[in-house]
Parts: sequence; structure tokens; C-alpha cells
Amino acid sequence: MKCLKCNGKMRVTDSREKAHNVIRRRYECNKCKARITTVESIYINLSIDFIANKIKQISQHHIEEMDIEIKQKIKNILKQVNLQK
Ligand SMILES: [Zn+2]
Repeated sequence: MKCLKCNGKMRVTDSREKAHNVIRRRYECNKCKARITTVESIYINLSIDFIANKIKQISQHHIEEMDIEIKQKIKNILKQVNLQK
């Protein structure tokens, strides 16, 4: 990690798990003593196929109970997935 002010080398002064798989780190610049905090977490990239498969797992009964706007969005996603195949 490089300092945003002087581009000097920074060292970790504190590191702790804030929540499950979320880590907060505090850095201090060795040169100008500027401090920054970073939050590290896992980035999950959900593909449209993955989301569509999850939706398909919801029973038709539940889909019928959803409001029209949500139903239309689901139909559009399913249509897009089918077009890709
Ligand atoms: Zn600095």
C-alpha cells in the first residue's frame, strides 16, 4: 500500500475482522504519518444464468403471488437467458 499524499510506503497498524469475512485495516505512512483505513471483503460475481436458475427454483405458485412488476422483471431475465442459449 502506497501513501495517497506522498506516495511513501505504508505499514499496517491495526487489522481486525469487522464481520464475517470483512476485514478492516489501518495503515500509517512511514514518511508523512498520514493514516488511511481499508475494508477488505469477498467480491462475488453473480452471472445472469446463476440468478435465472435461482429464480427457476422458486415454485410457480410463489411467482403468481408476486406483484406484476416483479413478475415482468423475472420474465425478462428468463427471456434474456433463453436468447443466449
Ligand atoms: Zn505519506
